[in-house]
Amino acid sequence: MPVRRTSALSKKEKPKPKITVAEMEAVKKELGLRAQYKIEILFSRHRSPNLMKPSPLMLLIWESGKRFHGGGDQKMYWCGYSNCDMPVSSELFAYMHVVCPHCNRELFLDPKSKQAHVKSMQDRGLNPDDMRGIPYVVGERLANLTPPKLAELLEKTWRKLNGDADIYLKFSPYEIRYDPKYDDNSRTIDNLERVRLQRQPVIYTLKNILVDLAAGAELRTRLLAMITS
Ligand SMILES: [Zn+2]
Repeated sequence: MPVRRTSALSKKEKPKPKITVAEMEAVKKELGLRAQYKIEILFSRHRSPNLMKPSPLMLLIWESGKRFHGGGDQKMYWCGYSNCDMPVSSELFAYMHVVCPHCNRELFLDPKSKQAHVKSMQDRGLNPDDMRGIPYVVGERLANLTPPKLAELLEKTWRKLNGDADIYLKFSPYEIRYDPKYDDNSRTIDNLERVRLQRQPVIYTLKNILVDLAAGAELRTRLLAMITS
């Protein structure tokens, strides 16, 4: 009979870095293929490696090799319901809206789409109140984080992408203003495309992440070293 572990027993053990089934799948895949996703942190020029000091940054996620016959990355989005907050492929986007594959709820792609729907309901004499509560997909996240908090966010994001992602740190010559009102898709993405072409990023590939994990490293510690190097 297999003995069931009690919580008291498992508490005594030192927590070891665990690799989940999904991450193991990613290991196998890595033998022949590159990672399916990219996590990208874009720092502004006011970036501090000081552990206590927060730096403004932007977080983006991409599907690798989805555009231009494998040569380009396709931007991914997050589900806008705060109790879901999972990655959503833009391949799932329908006209003006998308159904999140994780929570199966409907989201709008942008404020214009929502306005158009609300107006069309009003025009038909229907009550659009339910529609007003539907959130948008999230394209990029702006935050002001210390290196340890960023390492935590990166680890969480990496796990949400099934541990199948390369991590890129990029350094923008532009300011990143941590203010939701600057979270304007068209402009930030224009800036981003230029940055993506101009600058040499720091890359922590899936392959190296897995080699480090297999050697017993804790992912968050490695990420912190990467951020502060
Ligand atoms: Zn969702």
